[in-house]
Amino acid sequence: MEDLHITEPPKVECNEIPRNKLIRRFYDVLKQNNFDTNILCSNAKDLDMFFVDKIRTDAVGGYNTFTNEIMMVKNRHFMDYITHEFFHMSSTVRDDKKIYCGLMQQNADVGIGIGLTEGYTQLLNERYFEDITPTKKEHDVIVYPVTKKIAGWVEDIVGREFMEDCYIRADLDKLTMKLCEYVDDYKVLQFLRDLDIYYLEGEEKVLGNLPKAMKAYSNCLLFILECGYYSLDKRYMNNEMTTDEYITILEGLQKLQMIRLHVGLYGTFASIPLDDEYYKKLKSKVRSRLI
Ligand SMILES: [Zn+2]
Repeated sequence: MEDLHITEPPKVECNEIPRNKLIRRFYDVLKQNNFDTNILCSNAKDLDMFFVDKIRTDAVGGYNTFTNEIMMVKNRHFMDYITHEFFHMSSTVRDDKKIYCGLMQQNADVGIGIGLTEGYTQLLNERYFEDITPTKKEHDVIVYPVTKKIAGWVEDIVGREFMEDCYIRADLDKLTMKLCEYVDDYKVLQFLRDLDIYYLEGEEKVLGNLPKAMKAYSNCLLFILECGYYSLDKRYMNNEMTTDEYITILEGLQKLQMIRLHVGLYGTFASIPLDDEYYKKLKSKVRSRLI
């Protein structure tokens, strides 16, 4: 399949404050935290939201990047996930060739960056809306735990403000260029693809191709380590972080090396047939399927 060429997203300008109460509350939080809200305001104007009986196997809701619609499954607590979908809506732009959504780009045939986008969407959702979604703790929903963690490490590498801005402007191009300051561009692309594989095989499906997912996860960690050490020194030398921050991230990277060893063993283990008990455990993990 042909590869997608990552390009700059179109610029959007809109200052019309959303009228819908829920979106308005979301907008206020983003504004308070210095996010660009042009895409949000533009999409909110003709956003469609409606309830459906079912989306996929056990999805609770989803945002359609092509049609600018949010679907919510009846009888599910939509306040648990609506802000996640609002983040997608607020970071999606379209031109006649492609859709740019958060840190993902796609055309009718191919896409890149869905793993990073879903993980980072969930990270932002929990960072800014954990206290606002009143029922979340009660339902104890764990959403995209691994891609969220990896997205957080990428944020450590490039800096929080920078990554939040790339996300909300749907500018994967700018993020990849930044990462290319630390490692070769083919490695950045491979990382995005690996994280997509992990997301699709490890988090999105109840039972995906586990060995494939673990291999991809292991590759992602290697990338984070390589990129992390380079960027950390560079940013520290440029006075972009305090000594305390430097030490915290350095310690984090050292811990990551331990995880990599663990995954290495797990990867070997996962390539042999797994017993029923293991499958049961995997199945029982509480996960919510969102797009
Ligand atoms: Zn999502």
